Parts: sequence; structure tokens; C-alpha cells
Amino acid sequence: MKQTPENPMIRDLTLLMLGALLTTALLAAPEHSPWPGGIGIVRIAGEQRPSVIVDDQLTLILRAGNEWIALIGIPLEQSAPGTLTATISVPNRPTRQVELKIEPNTYEEQRLSVNRKYVDPSPEELERIFAEREIIDAALNNWREASIADVSLQTPVGGRRSSSFGLRRFFNDQPRSPHKGMDIAANSGTPINAPMSGVVTATGNYFFNGNTVIIDHGQGLISLYCHLSEIDVDEGVTVSTGTAIGKVGATGRVTGAHLHFATYLNGTAVDPALLLTD
Ligand SMILES: [Zn+2]
Repeated sequence: MKQTPENPMIRDLTLLMLGALLTTALLAAPEHSPWPGGIGIVRIAGEQRPSVIVDDQLTLILRAGNEWIALIGIPLEQSAPGTLTATISVPNRPTRQVELKIEPNTYEEQRLSVNRKYVDPSPEELERIFAEREIIDAALNNWREASIADVSLQTPVGGRRSSSFGLRRFFNDQPRSPHKGMDIAANSGTPINAPMSGVVTATGNYFFNGNTVIIDHGQGLISLYCHLSEIDVDEGVTVSTGTAIGKVGATGRVTGAHLHFATYLNGTAVDPALLLTD
């Protein structure tokens, strides 16, 4: 069979592939995943842009066709089954509330052994931890106005992804907060690329997170990269999708080299797998 662009089969195949690409590109919002650590989707009809508030935090709003889509990060600490209240405001209309039904989701247990200082920090280390916590929390809860058409993220680094988001963790047999990110196994020195455009709002060497970069993508969508061997961006710079921001390493509370990649919506850690497209 002669395969030229005139061949109808090839043409149909090309159209089919183009269709698939367009469908992917139009998938601006993730699927409704109403469980702790998931993303709840609330659709609002109308022309005027609404604002949606959950737990005193503004949520990310996308425009899709003739409706608006609010992406609501559901806290890992949320009780499930349960409900989360979203308050919707549209200019010149009465405010209304929507109850989001939260479904249970089981996360496994994980037990890790680390250097004793990461479980029983000294008073000086505790002071450092609290000071860093304030900087990190401020960056993760920041609201920066930005027009966002699509929230799909490119993978920041190639490598085996653990399905470790949400794991209930014990360090040296002591319970600690659940795992709020995805670990991607990669060799020390592997470049990390920004998964979406944004502004670098924090960089530093932190006690638990090691060398860290935080990127603010706008409207409360924020991503965090931890345990880097090297940071290659400065605070305040604007990055594009694919910009090299640093390198994989093993700094901070780790058992080996990997990237801890976390994503936040309305100040809440959500499973990065829900936003990654590749
Ligand atoms: Zn991690």
C-alpha cells in the first residue's frame, strides 16, 4: 500500500489523531475526585465570573464553554464520609452555598527509618522548623490573580512515580503527618523542570524539606519541589513550562535520592497525579 498524504486511510488516521489531541487539550479541568486529597469540581453556569470560597480560601476558577468550573482542593484531614461547604458569589446575585459530598478513600500506612534528629529535633532545630514553617505556609497559601485556561501539568522529572500520596506515615515508629506529595525516584543530579508557567515564590534549605523550590502558578495552584541537590532559580523569577528549576537530590528528611513533588489548591495538598497529563 502506497502511503501518501492523499491516501484516505492516512488522512482519516491524521484526523483521528488530531481529534484525540484536541480532546486532550480541551480537558482543562481534572475529573471530579471528591475524597480527602482529591479535587472537587463545582460547575457554575452564567457569563459573570463567580468567586468560590472554601474554608475562608478562594478557589481556582476556569472557564469551559459557557460555564465556570471551580477546582476545590479537599484536605487530607477532611472527615469522610462528610461534606465540605463551598460559598459561591456572583456579582449582583445572592450568595449561595453548595455542599460537596466527600467520599472515603483509604490510604496505606508507611514506616520509615530516618536520622534521629528528624524525629526528636533539638530546641534550636525546633525553632528553625517553626520559622521555616511560616515561610513555607505563606508561600503555599498565597493568592496571585492569574488567568488560567488549563491546569494540566507536565511531569517535572522522568522516573518511577510512587503512589505514595496520602500515606499515613510513621518515622522511627512515631506517627507523623500524612505524605502530602508524590515521590519520583531519580538519580541525584537529574534536572527538574517546571510543570507549568508561574512565579518562584520561595527557595531555601529547610530542615525537613532540604533544598526546596515553590512555584506559584496563580489562583492558588502552587507546586513544591523538595530534597534538591541544587536550586537553579531565584525567588521572584517567572518560569515557563519546562524551565529547569533545580536538580534531584537527597537533602533533608529522606531515605534516598528522589523528588518530593507536591501540588496545592486553596492551600490544600492534592494528589499531583490528578493534575499530571503525562
Ligand atoms: Zn515525599
